[in-house]
Amino acid sequence: MEKHLFFNYTHDQLADLIKSHGKEKFRAHQLFKWVYEKKELNPENMTNLAKNFRQEVPSIFDFSLPRVVSHLVSQDGTQKFLFEVDKGLTFEAVLIPASDRNTLCVSSEVGCNMACSFCFTGKQKLKRRLSVAEIVGQYMQVVGRISSDIRISNIVFMGMGEPLDNWQSVGPAIELLHDSRGINLSRKKITVSTSGLVPEIPLITEAGVRLAVSLNASNDEVRNQIMPINKKYPLHMLMQACREHARATRDRVTFEYVMLKDVNDEPKNALEVCELVKDVPCKINLIPFNEHPDSGFHRPESKKVYRFQEILLNRGFHTTIRRTMGRDIYAACGQLTSKYDGRPHAQEVATGVLG
Ligand code: SF4
Repeated sequence: MEKHLFFNYTHDQLADLIKSHGKEKFRAHQLFKWVYEKKELNPENMTNLAKNFRQEVPSIFDFSLPRVVSHLVSQDGTQKFLFEVDKGLTFEAVLIPASDRNTLCVSSEVGCNMACSFCFTGKQKLKRRLSVAEIVGQYMQVVGRISSDIRISNIVFMGMGEPLDNWQSVGPAIELLHDSRGINLSRKKITVSTSGLVPEIPLITEAGVRLAVSLNASNDEVRNQIMPINKKYPLHMLMQACREHARATRDRVTFEYVMLKDVNDEPKNALEVCELVKDVPCKINLIPFNEHPDSGFHRPESKKVYRFQEILLNRGFHTTIRRTMGRDIYAACGQLTSKYDGRPHAQEVATGVLG
């Protein structure tokens, strides 16, 4: 009999599955608590399970998680995890510490079809959508490997892939991350970032989680050049979807704006952004481009980034500049994957720096 991958099932699905095996539904709840609350994956140690059920569990469920092939720790505390599935397909998760939170950035796909021209992942094309187990598995693996005094407080779907292109896995993964019987993260601590798949944005609204939009341009002309999705769903459609999300959730949308030298970093672009988002309750996060080889794009000078921020602040927009974290460990999306040569970099965990 084929085993079921435990991490693919939400609580209710697990209960139905266990019932279909002739067991009481409450066994699902017991298993769920052991795995997600106590992080215990060995059924032999699940002491309150009836002995005969405990012995049967390994024949019903497979508790395996995506394999970690590299774990890097930056000098600034950022930790990057590289996972491998299907012998050679790799994806990443990054843990970003801050004084008031520890955010885990997870991937939803291996590669990405959105082809944003500044993005390392976008150059790798979509190779495979991740399963629920491979998304939740990133959280479980990271929790199992970090110090017990670090509590992951926030999850952002901002790693490799377009989450709305894989909602069949991202949706149930959100349910698992949120479920108060298990991992128990508030919906408001989970953020899904999209490049602008407008028809699917209501899925984020219905899930009750936060919306981030990778904006990166102040007008359609520039956005069409750097984000092909904009040709299908131009800015007026995207802004309408954002307004509707904000109205339905009474929450602010986060606009991420990767700043590219001589592409979108002029004061006139800042003024256009103000006009664009003026009706959307929002905050704006400026991200000076993290340069990578062959991208063809460059990071603007700091004074230009500050000038851009000043224009937005002066017009009343809550605007932050994202600090570059984990540069020594290739923490920008997709960069570590490209660096991985198929062999585990065990020494990197010890040294914390990829040479
Ligand atoms: S920025 Fe996001 S949506 Fe665009 S190619 Fe990269 S991973 Fe895909």
